[in-house]
Amino acid sequence: MAVSRSIDDAGDADQPSRCPACGADAYYRYGKTANGKARRICLLCQRQYTIDGARRERPDRPVCPLCGEPMHVYRRQAGFTRYRCRNYPACRSYVKVADEKGG
Ligand SMILES: [Zn+2]
Ligand SMILES: [Zn+2]
Repeated sequence: MAVSRSIDDAGDADQPSRCPACGADAYYRYGKTANGKARRICLLCQRQYTIDGARRERPDRPVCPLCGEPMHVYRRQAGFTRYRCRNYPACRSYVKVADEKGG
């Protein structure tokens, strides 16, 4: 049986965003914040607002079943990836995830 997956992490950093105050999409770019977010000024009401850019979260990273902390890659094996709890060695939980590959 064949399983087809589509990657839906399309970057929407250039998505037009509207002023949160008046809803206008006319803006003036005003540099960036310390966090790297794009800062804009609305041309209609002069309100400053920031655009949340691309979020870099990895949905494929498991969380620890014991303490709920995100896990990171411990070891890659053929066909599997082992993740270890971030709280290691306080928490010795690990999970084994099968790689999803076509073929
Ligand atoms: Zn506005
Ligand atoms: Zn843990």
